[in-house]
Amino acid sequence: MTTAFVVNSGSSSLKWELVDVESGEKLRGALVERVTDHTAAMAGVLEELGGEHPAVIGHRVVHGGSRFTRATLVTDEVEAAIDELSALAPLHNPANLAGIRAARAAFPGVPNVAVFDTAFHQTLAPEAYTYAIDAAVARENGIRRYGFHGTSYQYVSRAAGELLGDPAAKLIVFHLGNGASVAAVDGGRSVETSMGMTPLEGLVMGTRSGDLDPGILFHLGRSGVTLEALDGLLNRRSGLLGLAGTNDMRDVQAAAASGSADARLALDVYHHRLRHYLGAYLALLGGADAIVFTAGVGENSSATRAAVVAGMEAFGIVIDERLNDAPSKDARVVSSPSSRVAVLVVPTDEELEIARQAAALL
Ligand code: ADP
Repeated sequence: MTTAFVVNSGSSSLKWELVDVESGEKLRGALVERVTDHTAAMAGVLEELGGEHPAVIGHRVVHGGSRFTRATLVTDEVEAAIDELSALAPLHNPANLAGIRAARAAFPGVPNVAVFDTAFHQTLAPEAYTYAIDAAVARENGIRRYGFHGTSYQYVSRAAGELLGDPAAKLIVFHLGNGASVAAVDGGRSVETSMGMTPLEGLVMGTRSGDLDPGILFHLGRSGVTLEALDGLLNRRSGLLGLAGTNDMRDVQAAAASGSADARLALDVYHHRLRHYLGAYLALLGGADAIVFTAGVGENSSATRAAVVAGMEAFGIVIDERLNDAPSKDARVVSSPSSRVAVLVVPTDEELEIARQAAALL
């Protein structure tokens, strides 16, 4: 049995899982909260494991910039590069790095592997990742689209390919969690995705606005709103929360059902944006073999799935109401047999993907 220890180190939490790589079974795991000292927290985990050493340790790292195109064995030099990339992800990379350092200290001799959220999207073509701004400014500041949720997309697109019996399938994958994005995947390669230089661009999310006119920032800035306040507005007080007063999709749906006009509008905006991207990615891919839904909302909300593909029969997309409404935890087809484009629900498993990618480097 090859076991991988999977670490998701946040600024004040440490989520870990011990995974049997061959069977995919989760052997142990916990979420340690209110972490102030990652080294002490990791020492606590080591104690909980009873001194048992995994074969490999896989770390979730949010930003790999343009440098990391795949999972990478951690060395001092890789640590330094992740540190440098903190400029692009100031909230995440330092916390991820603290987890890496703590694990290297707690488990001497066990290889550590960094698995980047951005890596899967390094296959984007220049026309997809380039922002149309002054090229010198962009170059000097690392400004380009990177995309996120890559570990999830990698896991889900492989599983969707298996379900379809076609690893070369063209897929439009909606990862709809608290953070949300969509990717166009052609034969296992990401060709477009909705998140950009940061996870703020694209879809309406739990608390993030997604796409908006950047002119809004100048308008608010000129009226005296500070940079910090703008950051808080767009990242933490927008999206479903900003429109409906809650970031939990279940609560928004319940409020809309009991007549809240704000919640109804929030759902309409959320769906409108999803349909906008679906149309765009159908065009980019020249048609898709499947539309795939994953993460909290994508896996559990049949209403969201139905709203995204409603009225798209002209594009060969026909959902089967009964299949779509049937609760299940398995990867499954929810489109009608007459649908030219399959509609799939594929539960994501980022921890297992990190475990597999880490073990593959052994
Ligand atoms: P995270 O991005 O934090 O990992 P998840 O992938 O767990 O988030 O997704 C969280 C979202 O999924 C929440 O908005 C939650 O309301 C939503 N969700 C979970 N179950 C359901 C459901 N049955 N119906 C609608 N939304 C759901």
